[in-house]
Amino acid sequence: MAIVVMKFGGTSVGSIERINRVASHVAREVRAGNQVAVVVSAMSGETNRLIGLTQEAASLHDAKEYDTVVATGEQVTCGLLAMNLQQYGIRARSWLGWQIPIRTVGLHSAARIDSIGTDGLMADLENGVVTVIPGFQGVSLDGRVTTLGRGGSDTSAVAVAAALNAERCDIYTDVDGVYTTDPRIESKARKIDRISYEEMLELASQGAKVLQTRSVQLAKVHNVKLKVLSSFIDPENCTEDDLAGTLVCDEGDIVEQLVVSGIAYSRDEAKITLRHVPDKPGIAAEIFGNLADAGVNVDMIVQNTSEDGKTTDLTFTVPEAEADRAVTSLRDAARKGEFGEIQADKNVSKISIVGTGMRSHSGVARKMFETLAAKGINILVISTSEIKVSVLIESEYTELAVRALHSAYELDKV
Ligand code: ASP
Ligand code: MG
Repeated sequence: MAIVVMKFGGTSVGSIERINRVASHVAREVRAGNQVAVVVSAMSGETNRLIGLTQEAASLHDAKEYDTVVATGEQVTCGLLAMNLQQYGIRARSWLGWQIPIRTVGLHSAARIDSIGTDGLMADLENGVVTVIPGFQGVSLDGRVTTLGRGGSDTSAVAVAAALNAERCDIYTDVDGVYTTDPRIESKARKIDRISYEEMLELASQGAKVLQTRSVQLAKVHNVKLKVLSSFIDPENCTEDDLAGTLVCDEGDIVEQLVVSGIAYSRDEAKITLRHVPDKPGIAAEIFGNLADAGVNVDMIVQNTSEDGKTTDLTFTVPEAEADRAVTSLRDAARKGEFGEIQADKNVSKISIVGTGMRSHSGVARKMFETLAAKGINILVISTSEIKVSVLIESEYTELAVRALHSAYELDKV
């Protein structure tokens, strides 16, 4: 018998009717002879509602109490699904994070999973009991309830799959797989059958929202076979094709490596330029030290050559929500005359092309730049990794750039 982990996101458990559909999906796997562990998110919108309550109660609250409140969304769906399964005649029980336990380390509201106790879960699975597990929840070493950060239940599911040595970890969501780009922007976007962990990691961190980045990292480390598929298919009447979704797997399990597999975009970017920064050792360390102290995440960085041999311009990008904090953290240094003006521009987007085939092909970046040039789109900043090229452009050209690149790399054709 194989152990299968099934994870259902917020929209998939958003109402009693939908929880009912989830129960039939679980029933399908049980009938197929599998031992099933289910991981659920809170009902869609519920985590936001709970966070709102904590803010109303006290604007500066204790993170431990925040976790106590915010973790309850998953407790509700967990119990509801277990009840619903029992109604179908399937033996099931809910397990809370601290009961399993899912031990976490690190900060409250952004905890990391350290280890998962498997004795209780395994005993249930071996007795034919479906275990229903809340995503997002854990317990700290001193016994307090913790949460893993927004979108954390994908990570819970992968961690449970790794701990139970599951054959698969199926992530049921509101889309039927990972697409070559966002179908809302490019109607010719295609569902990808197989994608490597590395590519998925880049796509997820570059703005494709289908999986939490951390969950992909964890799947890669533990070699968990991840599948993304839709929870809206008819559980009673579905074909193998409906259930195919997108498999996220090892590069070696993909026969044909595409040069570019997908295009991601993110509008959540801001560009910050520091003018007349002294061209001397230690200055970058100071600037980025200030930003790190302020908890700002810096992404792309370019330093221009110095025109006069004395000062240079430094440009970098940060998430839009952190732009004001970034500027504030640098004002003191600017005031002390360590550099000239600070310019911030929030009207920028990052467009990324991702593909493992890039490693062995030349001319990939050139095609990107030529395609954008042909559309008259100016590139503000460029950054690359082994399997990714990202450019920063003005926000208004986001759709145009995504569509042009999608067709330039023939992603509509394969
Ligand atoms: N309920 C949590 C959130 O909305 C965790 C999750 O759904 O993945 O962020
Ligand atoms: Mg999610």
